[in-house]
Amino acid sequence: MSKWVYRFGDGAAEGRADMKNLLGGKGANLAEMASLGLPVPPGLTITTEVCTYYYANGRTYPDTLESEVNQAVAAIEKSVGARFGDEENPLLVSVRSGARVSMPGMMDTVLNLGLNDKTVEALAKQSDNARFAWDSYRRFIQMYSDVVLGVDHYHFEELIELHKEEKGVDLDTELDAEDWRQIAEGFKAKAQEELGYPFPQDVKEQLWGAIGAVFSSWHIERAKVYRKLNNIPEDWGTAVNVQAMVFGNMGETSATGVAFTRNPSTGDKEYYGEYLIDAQGEDVVAGIRTPQYLTKMAREEAGATAPSMEESMPAVFGQLADVFDKLERHYCDMQDIEFTVQHGKLWMLQTRSGKRTAKAALKIAVDMAAEGLIDEKTAVLRVEPGALDQLLHPTLDPDAPRDIFTRGLPASPGAASGIVVFDADTAEEMAKEGKAVILCRVETSPEDIHGMHAAKGILTARGGMTSHAAVVARGMGRPCVSGAGQLRIDAKNGVMSATGREVKAGDTITIDGASGEVMVGEVKTLQPELAGDFATLMKWADTYRKLKVRTNADTPHDTQTAREFGAEGIGLCRTEHMFFEGERIVAVREMILADDLEGRKSALAKLLPMQRSDFEEIFKIMRGLPVTIRLLDPPLHEFLPREEDEFEDVAKSIGADVEHLKRRAAELHEFNPMLGHRGCRLGITYPEIYEMQARAIFEAAITVEQKTGDTVVPEIMIPLVATRKELETLRAYVETVAEEVFTETGHRVEYLVGTMIELPRAAICADRIAVAADFFSFGTNDLTQTTIGISRDDAGRFLDQYVKQDIFAQDPFVSIDQEGVGELVKMGAERGRSTKPDLKLGICGEHGGDPASVEFCHRTGLDYVSCSPYRVPIARLAAAQAALKG
Ligand code: ADP
Ligand code: MG
Ligand code: MG
Repeated sequence: MSKWVYRFGDGAAEGRADMKNLLGGKGANLAEMASLGLPVPPGLTITTEVCTYYYANGRTYPDTLESEVNQAVAAIEKSVGARFGDEENPLLVSVRSGARVSMPGMMDTVLNLGLNDKTVEALAKQSDNARFAWDSYRRFIQMYSDVVLGVDHYHFEELIELHKEEKGVDLDTELDAEDWRQIAEGFKAKAQEELGYPFPQDVKEQLWGAIGAVFSSWHIERAKVYRKLNNIPEDWGTAVNVQAMVFGNMGETSATGVAFTRNPSTGDKEYYGEYLIDAQGEDVVAGIRTPQYLTKMAREEAGATAPSMEESMPAVFGQLADVFDKLERHYCDMQDIEFTVQHGKLWMLQTRSGKRTAKAALKIAVDMAAEGLIDEKTAVLRVEPGALDQLLHPTLDPDAPRDIFTRGLPASPGAASGIVVFDADTAEEMAKEGKAVILCRVETSPEDIHGMHAAKGILTARGGMTSHAAVVARGMGRPCVSGAGQLRIDAKNGVMSATGREVKAGDTITIDGASGEVMVGEVKTLQPELAGDFATLMKWADTYRKLKVRTNADTPHDTQTAREFGAEGIGLCRTEHMFFEGERIVAVREMILADDLEGRKSALAKLLPMQRSDFEEIFKIMRGLPVTIRLLDPPLHEFLPREEDEFEDVAKSIGADVEHLKRRAAELHEFNPMLGHRGCRLGITYPEIYEMQARAIFEAAITVEQKTGDTVVPEIMIPLVATRKELETLRAYVETVAEEVFTETGHRVEYLVGTMIELPRAAICADRIAVAADFFSFGTNDLTQTTIGISRDDAGRFLDQYVKQDIFAQDPFVSIDQEGVGELVKMGAERGRSTKPDLKLGICGEHGGDPASVEFCHRTGLDYVSCSPYRVPIARLAAAQAALKG
């Protein structure tokens, strides 16, 4: 028989930390903490399998669930010494959701469940604190109505505001027991008015209502959006935790808080967090009251006056610090913790691995390895490759002038400039148009996630360092400034103001998530620091990885950047970009529009020295590392003149007539250029183009070898090959040119000739093509286009829907479609090596910098991946992780 319910509490538990799949992250860790002997209020976890059952069986529960829950509740009652629904000594519980991985703010917790008109009186009497009892009851009515019954919380907030106005007070803390009683009555009436039936008084009905709401919430829209963005499978389901309440709202000796065992922003080894005295649950993150700092040091650094927990509750703070250390030693990772203090007694309500910035992830991994908590391999596995992106990008130039508009909390590092947008939908739309936007909100909620994702940065007027905006932004790697207290946002009128100035929607601002500053206009940025922890971790990564990492670069600048990021060669140097620069384009156009071979040759002769000097520079920078140069690939018409004066320039240069040139240009029109006269087809029809390029490459290689003494081994790559014959023909041209140059200069260089595998036919015929190739480079951009039959330039219109409707798990241009395109890569690799075992294999599509695709390349046995310069470190780390995961 299945077991649907697991218990925890009183120093023991049926579950464990490694049972997250069954118990959810929260439940598994509550169990683990209980077993460790930490003070955890007793409770029960209903497994994720019940969630699966619930959806598979028309939203019903397994037969035995109710009796299992009843038994577990009886155990809680016994442990606490109170009874659920008892009119003298009532047990109150929280009902908490918990998926395998935390989904911040996705499913709301209901606190103080078990209160009704009778039990609230009992609680008042028993605690001798009527204010506390009524405060708890009104919270319960509000939360339950909102989360379970669907009555929007603003109805209730309005009533509190009204009451405060009538009484002439500003703060919740100024309301007394009688006020809260009246408010609770008002809430009940409001709920009834909205619902058409009375607020439920039966505690069992309350309990099952809340349990059902947690399971149903797995399928609400914002939860789905979050799962989509974070690649969390739909079928995981959530667990439900029912736990005895402890109260942080019992007066001055009670409190509630959230903490990290290290600084999640910088990674520094210091306790970090916030707490509130006489408060409950999510008050700390809700931004209603301003939370206080945990440590004296943090308070002093911030120049805050409200006492830190270290100062106001030194004894409990000491216990909390012990718990932090114990949990870190136990989990060997930085923990994100939720706790409550009831009458001076500490209770632990949650622990999990804390989300952190890339900078913090690096520092914590390197520090923990140094502290002996983890080994180097674990350290390498601890940093998410994609997150390195945050570190590789610019920060504000400290010397650049700044026009400070306002300040907030440094909630997620990185600097970003963009235009001001006040709502998530607009942010998404503008980002789609290619605009950089900064999303500015009073505070964010899970409904804003798509806009936060689309934005370059996030600014909020409210909320602390652990607010929704801060947590989500750090997770996404977006710079964020939160809690900019002086900022007034008037979204309706498209304007925000601070210190007497206004900024309107559409104006440019810059935010610095590392300092909390918000500036008017754009501020100059600086390149990141790549020494220190970053270098240490990358060095470790390099010792474990098997894949080499090269870069896609075709300018000296990109080549230099890539080398600094650790590129071990160039995997793709596109030659066409070089054709657009300055005067060259005129010569290129001459060549294309020439009527005959002679005309083309004379234009190519002009291009030769330019190409040669391009390659010389790149070879010099790469200092003997392999450089793969792809011969001309795009359809010629991409280079054609369009404007009148462009035609005139070419006409003048070759003494031809403009009208004639226009006719030639029209002849070059293609209906589907992507499948047209491009790639090696150009080499077949106009061998002189590839011959010129080959000559430029060999001459440059020889010059650089002679000048620097470094060995240069150019790898010449022929694009868009579909047949062995194409490659053989073109290879022969290249070899002929090579011999010519070697004879002319009296100097030989080693070189390779290979091909891109970017057509399905090439992958299928890879065994035959390999006969003529020294290497293959999988061009997965074109291979994706030609395999799926979608063009990258046109896919935008439907790809979104394809991803939303789960037809594609991910954009196949971002992460390689492993079961389709990936199969062709595998086939190409296997077949290629079947005829040429030492065939060198690489990938040079955008996928080379996508961690999941890198892992795929490792498993497929490629020799290297090649990606854009900024993604080189990401690929290095991803390759190491792939190797470590085996
Ligand atoms: P989330 O997943 O949104 O963090 P939680 O289930 O952790 O939701 O609940 C939010 C907050 O509610 C907790 O941080 C804690 O302050 C409070 N809470 C939950 N359960 C209890 C409980 N049994 N006693 C006291 N407070 C609780
Ligand atoms: Mg929540
Ligand atoms: Mg929590």
